[in-house]
Amino acid sequence: MDPESIERKYRRGVFPGRFQPFHLGHLEVVKWALKHVEELAIVIGTAQESHTVVNPFTAGERIIMIRESLKEGNIDLSRILIIPVPDILMNSVWASYLRLFVPEFDVGISRNPLVVRLFKEAGYSVLVPPSFERNKYSSTRIRKMMIAGDDAWRSYVPNAVSRIIDMIDGVKRIREVIGGD
Ligand code: NAP
Repeated sequence: MDPESIERKYRRGVFPGRFQPFHLGHLEVVKWALKHVEELAIVIGTAQESHTVVNPFTAGERIIMIRESLKEGNIDLSRILIIPVPDILMNSVWASYLRLFVPEFDVGISRNPLVVRLFKEAGYSVLVPPSFERNKYSSTRIRKMMIAGDDAWRSYVPNAVSRIIDMIDGVKRIREVIGGD
């Protein structure tokens, strides 16, 4: 028996994020979450948005970025679901609305105070992961570096994310949409 599985208290956890883009801090949260849950559903929130400065990447691009990063990190993909979910206008029913897309789950995983509150109000347990150098690993910071032409953003994301952003010409996309955002 895997000794770590003894600690796993929950059957399925949900970790929502916009992942614009998925970075090394998010990867640490995934590793941390897998110590507590048998299966982890990574919910790609705001799935309807792309091609803006705050949400540059499509849900499809984010799915591939996350899956390739997890592979690269030797994470067991048989314990992972990656599920895109569009936003809705009613925060009060969002946690229940997730059940349309995500198989039955027993715990929400988030540091975002609104998300924590919505999970709790819907009756779910919540796990709050530690900060993994939050001031360093931040999607907002990474996007700002891309806009500024600072190539150091690559050291804050898994190699797979850097590679995929190059493939889709993602930095050029962000810089071009600034004017229209
Ligand atoms: P995010 O910024 O991509 O972050 C995802 C999670 O990772 C957050 O809990 C975040 O905590 C954590 N994280 C980021 N960097 C970290 C680090 N270095 N170390 C540890 N943790 C780190 O996404 P989010 O804003 O939380 O995404 C929530 C999604 O749910 C959005 O798409 C939102 O639209 C959706 N949502 C929708 C509704 C609705 O439709 N009505 C309601 C609620 C939520 P931090 O908070 O510290 O960044």
